[in-house]
Amino acid sequence: MIEAEKSAALLARAAAVIPGAVNSPVRAWKAVGGATLFIARGDGPAVIDADGNRFIDYVGSYGPAILGHAHPEVVAAVAEEAARGFGYGAPTELEVALAERIAAAVPMARKVRLVSSGTEAGMTAIRLARAATGRPRIVKFDGCYHGHSDSLLVRAGSGAMTLGVPDSAGVPEALAALTRVARYNSLDAVERYFRAEPREIAAVIVEPVAANMGVAAPAPGFLKDLGDLAHRHGALLICDEVITGFRLGYGTAHEMFGAAPDLIMLGKVIGGGMPIGAVAGRADLMDLLAPVGPVYQAGTLSGNPVAVRAGLKTLEILARPGTYERLDEMSARLGDGIAEELRGTNLNGCVNRVGSLVTAFLGVETVRDADEARRADTEMFARFFHAMLERGIYLPPSQFEAMFVSLAHREVEIDRTVEAARESLASLARN
Ligand code: PMP
Repeated sequence: MIEAEKSAALLARAAAVIPGAVNSPVRAWKAVGGATLFIARGDGPAVIDADGNRFIDYVGSYGPAILGHAHPEVVAAVAEEAARGFGYGAPTELEVALAERIAAAVPMARKVRLVSSGTEAGMTAIRLARAATGRPRIVKFDGCYHGHSDSLLVRAGSGAMTLGVPDSAGVPEALAALTRVARYNSLDAVERYFRAEPREIAAVIVEPVAANMGVAAPAPGFLKDLGDLAHRHGALLICDEVITGFRLGYGTAHEMFGAAPDLIMLGKVIGGGMPIGAVAGRADLMDLLAPVGPVYQAGTLSGNPVAVRAGLKTLEILARPGTYERLDEMSARLGDGIAEELRGTNLNGCVNRVGSLVTAFLGVETVRDADEARRADTEMFARFFHAMLERGIYLPPSQFEAMFVSLAHREVEIDRTVEAARESLASLARN
C-alpha cells in the first residue's frame, strides 16, 4: 500500500472548496477508483506526491512536459522572465519570436494567434471557419476532444468519454445540433453529411492522431482524403494539433500524414508547461481576426511573456539534433515492451503507439475508432492502473488517455516500467 496520509488530508480539504476536489475532472480518478494523489513536485521523468512517494510519470501534464518536469534550462528562462514582470496587456518581442518559430516549422501556419488554452484555440478556429464560409455546421469525430467549448463538447473523448458523459448539461440543444459526428478513420458519415447539407458545413475538425480515446493512428490516406472531401464541398479542414504539435517531430503531424488543413490548433508543448494555445493557418483566414477583421477574439493573458518564454526555450531544445529520434527510441522500447508482456499473459489487449503517444488497451485486439475503444475492459484497466501505481509507475488514470513519454525518460525508467507491467499483468492474469 502507498502511504498517502497527506494526500488524503489534502483531498478532504479540497473537497470542501473545489467541486469534486479537482480543477479538471480526469484528475479525480473516477474511472479507476481510489483516492487521487496530490503532487508536490516534478523531477525529470518523475513526480513526487505530497507524502514524498516518487513515481515514474507518464501523465506528463497531459502532454506539455515533453522535456520531463522542471527542465533546468526552461526553469532558468522562466525565472529570468518572471523577474521582469508577468505581462503587460501590450505586445512583447517574445510573442513575435514564438509566432516566427511556429511559422518557420509549419509551412501552412502563415499567421499565428496566441491564446491561453487548447479550448480557446478550438473555439476560435471554428468561429473563424464559420465566418469565412458563412456556414453554421461543424463535423467532428466521435472520441476526438477539442476542448470544452459548447460546439465541440459533443461525443468528445478524454474526460467526457471516461466519465460516460459525451454531451454536457448546459450545452443548448440548438447549438449541439450544429455539430455532426462521424466515426474516426471513416469518410462514410462525412460524405453523407456533405451530401445531405451541401452548403451548411463550415469545417471538419480532426485530431490527426486521435489521442483522447486512447491513442488511435489515422488510417493511411484518411487525413488527406478528408481534407480533399472538405475542400471539394467548400468547407475547411481544421487539424487539432494541441497534442500532436511538436510532439511527434519538430512541427506538426498533419504534414507527416499528408493532410492540408486550412487552420490548425496548437497548445501543450508550445507553452513548455505553462498555459498556452494557438490558432494558426492561412493568412487570409487569420486576418479575419480582430483587430483587422470582423471575427472577435481576445485574451487578457494571451501571449503571456512567462508562458511564451517557457515555450520558446522548450522549442529551442526540441530543435536540437537527435531529439525526436531519441524520444521515438524510448517510446518504442516502452510500447514494444508492454506489448510483449501482454503477449506473455493470456490477457487480450493491444498497444497503440504513434511516436511518444502510447496506449495499452486491455480486453480488445484492435482500436481504430471510439467504438472499438469503448469495448476495452475499463475495469481491468483500473486494476492495471493501481498495480502499476503500487510499483511506482504513474499512468494516466483512464483507459482513454495517452501515456506521454518524455525526453527525460531513459532506458532505466522505461525498463522499470516494462518490468512493472510484467508483474502487474501477471497479477491480473492470475485473478
Ligand atoms: N485538443 C486536444 C487534442 C486536446 O487533447 C486538448 C486537451 N487535452 C484540448 C484540445 C484542449 O486543451 P486545453 O485543455 O488546454 O483547453
